[in-house]
Amino acid sequence: MRTAIVWLRRDLRMNDNPALAAASEAERIVPLFCFERGLWDGRHSSPNRNAYLLASLRDLDADLRSTGARLHFRSGDPAVVLARLATEAGAEVVHVNRDHTAHSRARDQRVGRALADGGVELIGHNGIACAEIARIETGSGGPYRVFTPFYRAWARAGRRELAKRPRRLAGAPSGVGVGSPPTKEEMGVDARAERIAGGFGPGETAARRAMRRALERADAYHRVRDLAGDDATTKLSPQLHFGTISARELETELLDRGTKGATELRRQLAWRDFWLNVIRHFPGNRELEYDERMRGMRWRTSDRDFEAWCEGRTGVPWIDAGMRQLREEGWMHNRVRMAVASYLTKNLRLHWRRGEAHFMAHLLDGDESQNNGNWQWAASTGADPQPYFRIFNPVKQQEKFDPDGTYVRRWVPELADLPDGHLGAPWEAPPEVLAEAGIALGDDYPEPLVDLKDSRAEAIERFGEARGG
Ligand code: FAD
Repeated sequence: MRTAIVWLRRDLRMNDNPALAAASEAERIVPLFCFERGLWDGRHSSPNRNAYLLASLRDLDADLRSTGARLHFRSGDPAVVLARLATEAGAEVVHVNRDHTAHSRARDQRVGRALADGGVELIGHNGIACAEIARIETGSGGPYRVFTPFYRAWARAGRRELAKRPRRLAGAPSGVGVGSPPTKEEMGVDARAERIAGGFGPGETAARRAMRRALERADAYHRVRDLAGDDATTKLSPQLHFGTISARELETELLDRGTKGATELRRQLAWRDFWLNVIRHFPGNRELEYDERMRGMRWRTSDRDFEAWCEGRTGVPWIDAGMRQLREEGWMHNRVRMAVASYLTKNLRLHWRRGEAHFMAHLLDGDESQNNGNWQWAASTGADPQPYFRIFNPVKQQEKFDPDGTYVRRWVPELADLPDGHLGAPWEAPPEVLAEAGIALGDDYPEPLVDLKDSRAEAIERFGEARGG
């Protein structure tokens, strides 16, 4: 093989990158990142993620240069860009790691056709998921819709070998322009977005350090994963989203450890593959409820309540803490994500799509497959959803998963002096306790937007009606 292009997308790494490893066998190699317009004006564009992307690409380019290659940049429609670059470079083949979202699959089909017209082959590899999820099927040959049986099949399914990190790479054919990335300004990246991205160490070098740290702590994962104040989950979701670490490599390390904590952590990676599997087989979920009965649900439309939720001003500390963490860090603890999503869709009965969009605008790990799957889970509209009548009580959740109030006090500092026993529900605290803590409800901290008990009862009724109707 004379010349190969490796088109990098959300696999921004040298280690265990099957597409890069395959391309490295060519006599000449052109590593490419193509900036699609949707990155800055698409429905899910995000300055935080764009800042992370640009920094990760710089790191990858430095690593590629140290092997003799370098990253090439193009902007525009990948079908046009790839066909043109293949001609320019005289490439015979383009290697990619396959993604599973509706957008990427449709895009790859278009690119494949455009390349085929010029006699160039597009070859897909499994470099994003742990398992080859396209091959995981039920006994009757259909897709899994429920996690537990999927998990069993996923655990049994074969795995590819880890791909070797290339030590030396050939350069591109002479005359192929390197190109340049869009500017930060064009990508909507400001200092705030850069600070947020910097908090999660973009680029493979930092990602591998974070993975090592996470592995050292993996054995205790099952004991600490729900304690939001301890901040003891891996926080590797942005790195997994951008592929600065490989899910398959992480899984391999966890299997080697084999402890209870490592097994529980590996199970979370199965959830990641499960949602990739769901969006692959049910691409319509990106627009509509998976559960058709829920498509007629009458959601409330209050902009005032939605804004209060977005800004962390609902008057429920557990919810407000999570929403403020999201704004400040571009990340939120999973326990709290579940609670804020439940609160928005059940207590406020606002459409899950509004929550999904807000998360996508802020999350560094914002990913259509994972976000949509989890939002539809929380809204009881999705595949294998949370039963609609099991509604999280945010006061009890705070008591259970933040018993010493570390998390709430970190993100809602105006409540810092409230005693632990009142931190989850300040509206129930006696006036003298509030006065002692220096809090005037309604001034220093909001009164609750809705009554938790009444709104829960109403949600159960409305959700029940929608499902029966
Ligand atoms: P850990 O607990 O350390 O888990 C390790 C890895 O396992 C994670 O990095 C992630 O890749 C995977 N994982 C863990 N929990 C889940 C889960 N519930 N679903 C799928 N994969 C999981 N995750 C995203 O990556 N992108 C999203 O856009 C996203 N949106 C979410 C929206 C809602 C409403 C909810 C409830 C969850 C969402 N999640 C999303 C899942 C989960 O909250 C995050 O993956 C997790 O909090 C990331 O933190 P961590 O890396 O410390 O996780």
